[in-house]
Amino acid sequence: MIPRLNGSDPAHPDLCVRCGRTARCFIGSVMNTDWICLPCRDDEGEAPGFAAAAQAEQDAVKAGNFNFPGVGFTSADRVFLSERLKKRP
Ligand SMILES: [Zn+2]
Repeated sequence: MIPRLNGSDPAHPDLCVRCGRTARCFIGSVMNTDWICLPCRDDEGEAPGFAAAAQAEQDAVKAGNFNFPGVGFTSADRVFLSERLKKRP
């Protein structure tokens, strides 16, 4: 059995589902249920909607929802993350 390192794509457990690059370490996204590489998580943390998404997740957990799927991306988040990805070496 292939280990599901990124939790999102069992056919390619070593690829980040967000940027498509190989990674050894993945972390859960705050915006949605993706398991993403650390550079993607760094970018996500600077996205315009991140603070609201993090607050929504915190509120959900405090209310007892430990399977909160995230609030998703705003269009501003999508533009920001796309631009950040283009600038990555
Ligand atoms: Zn990534």
